[in-house]
Formats: sequence, C-alpha cells, structure tokens
Amino acid sequence: DVRTRFAPSPTGYLHVGGARTALFNYLFARQHGGAFVLRVEDTDQARNTEEARAAIFDGMGWLGLDWDEGEGKGGDFGPYNQSERTALYDKWFEVLRAAGRVYEDDGAWRFRFERKPVTMNDLVCGEVTIDYRDESNTPDMVVRRSDGSYVFHFVNVVDDLEMQITHVIRGEDHLMNTPKHLQLFEAFGVAPPQYAHIPLILNADGSKMSKRDEGAAVGDYPKNGFIAPAVVNFLALLGWNPKTDEEVFTMDELVARFSLENVNRSPARFDAEKCAWLNQQHLLKLSSEQFAELAKPFVEKADLPLGERYPAAAEAVREKVRLLSEVPGALDFLLVDEISIDTEPLEKVRKNDQASTLLAALADRLSGIGEWSAEAAKEAIGETAKENGAKPGQLMFPTRVALSGKGGGPDLGDILRILGKDTCVARLHDLAT
Ligand code: GLU
Repeated sequence: DVRTRFAPSPTGYLHVGGARTALFNYLFARQHGGAFVLRVEDTDQARNTEEARAAIFDGMGWLGLDWDEGEGKGGDFGPYNQSERTALYDKWFEVLRAAGRVYEDDGAWRFRFERKPVTMNDLVCGEVTIDYRDESNTPDMVVRRSDGSYVFHFVNVVDDLEMQITHVIRGEDHLMNTPKHLQLFEAFGVAPPQYAHIPLILNADGSKMSKRDEGAAVGDYPKNGFIAPAVVNFLALLGWNPKTDEEVFTMDELVARFSLENVNRSPARFDAEKCAWLNQQHLLKLSSEQFAELAKPFVEKADLPLGERYPAAAEAVREKVRLLSEVPGALDFLLVDEISIDTEPLEKVRKNDQASTLLAALADRLSGIGEWSAEAAKEAIGETAKENGAKPGQLMFPTRVALSGKGGGPDLGDILRILGKDTCVARLHDLAT
C-alpha cells in the first residue's frame, strides 16, 4: 500500500514550497488509496518553535490537506515527532555498529560508505549517480554527533523505513542527499522507498524563491483574500503539468489527474497574477451564499455596515473581484448612506455640459416610478435621454457615477435595484447640483 509523508521542520511558517510538497504527497496518497503521514522533524531544538508547529498544522488544515497519521490523529507508527523517537534511532544505530558500519571519530560517529557508484532512479529527475569510490568528494558522513544527537540523514532514513514509507516526494534541494540515504537503507538491509524530487520554485524574475519573498507564507493567503481551493490549484500547477489547456481544478480533480510523470524537471515560476486569476475562477464556483459569507469578514474589517442590502450587493460584485479583499472597495457604495465621488469619473461628468440637466431630469422621472425595478428605472433612463435629445449612453455614465461614485463596477441595473428609489433619486440630485 502506498504510504507518503510530509516531513516539515518546524523552524518557520509554512511556506509555499513546503505546502506544495505536502500537496503532492497528499494527492499521490489519495489517488492510490494510501496513507498520508505528517511527521514533524523537530530535532533542531534551538530553531524549533511552537508557533511554527502550529502554523504547519493550521496551514495544512486550511488547505484541506488532512493527514491520516500524525499530530492529533495518532497511527501505528508513532510517535510522529522526531524529538520523541530517540529510542528508535539508538536501536538502528546499534544495527550499524554491530555490522561494523560506523566508527568513532573524536566522539562523533561516522557512517562508512560503500565505495562504489550509487545510482538512484528518481521518478521525476531520472537517473542520478554519485560515485563513492572518490573518497575525497564523499567522505564518510557523521550520523551521530558527540552529544549523542543524530543528524538529519540518519533520522530521516530511520523514520522512512520505520514508518514504511513507500514514496518520498520532496523538494529538489534534497536530490543530492538521496544517494546517502540509499547507502543507509542498504546498510540497514531494508528496501528503500521510491523517490520523486520536485522542482525548485523561482520568483517571477527567475531568482530563487525564499521564505521572505512576497507570497511565500501560506498563512498570508487567507488574510489577503484568497480561498483555499484556489491556492491548492495554484500550488498544484507549480511544477505539475496537466498536459491540457485546462487550468482550473478542484481538489477532487487533482486527486484524479495528478501524476508524478507529469511533474516538470525544470523549475516552476511563481506567478502572483496567475494565483489571483485562479482565485477568481474558484470564487465563481461558489454559491452566492458561500461567497457572501466568505467576503463578510473583509467587509466588516473595512467598517462597512452589513445591512439588508449586503447579500444582493455581494452577488452584484461577485464577477468583478479576484480576491475577497477587493470586495469592500467594490461594494462599499451599496452599503453606506453617504458616498464620495472619485475625481477621475467626476471630471468626466463635469466635461459633459448636459450632464446636470440630464441627471436632474432623471431624478424627477425616477421619483415618479410606482413599482420600483431595475427595468422600470432603465426605461426611465432611456426616456429621459430621448426627451432631452441625448442617447441613453450619454446618461448611463453620469448615472453610474452619481450612484456609485466610481467609473466602473457592477451592472447598472443591479445598482439601481439594490439602492432603491429614494437613494437613487437623492444621489442623482446630489451630482446634478
Ligand atoms: N525536514 C526535511 C525538510 O523539511 C524533510 C526532507 C524530506 O522530506 O525528506 O526539508
């Protein structure tokens, strides 16, 4: 049975590269009906923090990467924190010692490499060989420090074998570590897992993405108005090629379609615009109620009143926003009593000599409408224009500006309907005078 794992070190927040590694392991396990293990590699006591641990669990929870074994889940191969697995490491260290594969060097212990070429067949990168006959390039490696602690290569391999991991999917930065890991597996007499090293992530400008770069922290995405399905979709496309023109995938679709064969060998480019576009595509998949609910915290944070107009207002701007954080700015004029008018559209309206007359005439006509509807209001626009020898288009823009304070935005019919007669009449008068 397929068993994959995500093995983060809790030394910083969950970043895009780590989340992508977790996602690929998750997708692969789910696709094969296997298990996805979360193992925390917390041996670096000096650099581990509780916040970092929490950020990993939160980030994975938010993305929907639920693990089958590990923190909060238990499992048959625990404990799942490396800091609690010392007895196992000691046990496997003894195996090496009994076999004469380690020797002491100033209090530390080195692992004796077999002096031969070691070739791995990486599922993404293909064949990679390191020739251990060249001792100066491949000196025996320390596996146990003089203070008794074990190094990354050793604990990583012990855990993968103890946890019966079948596929190790991890960042390309570990590619050159893998022959060392294969040497250890061989010394332990255990068949190694299959390895798949996934490409680096570069910034848009081609520089290597670092944890400090904009967009690197998964925790920032919800704050910035992204929704989890979009970020999952975005992460999947960082290295995985769907081999079709389609770009929008749900988690279920990714589980069905993901494959390691279609992971690129060349580095992935981080494209913030693409991420925002995907977010828009996933926002459009939501129901109106879901969208309004998810946008609510952003609207509240902008101090806008969530009155009875809110659901309709949210629906009216749904196709206009890419991020939930754009919602307040898009619908504020539908929720507040007093609006201000943006300078640029205001100047455009002022350049039109006829605008004031038209707006005043429209206000009068609208106030006479008995049964308010977008259709009735639009008809009034047409009639007012005609009566004043203008085209409806000449009145549309000033009307939009009067009602919204902006030069663009939702459908004018939606604006008229949501604001209602009294507000429309008042705002038209305001701009007319
Ligand atoms: N703790 C290691 C890392 O975060 C894990 C590497 C691996 O997946 O084997 O890079």
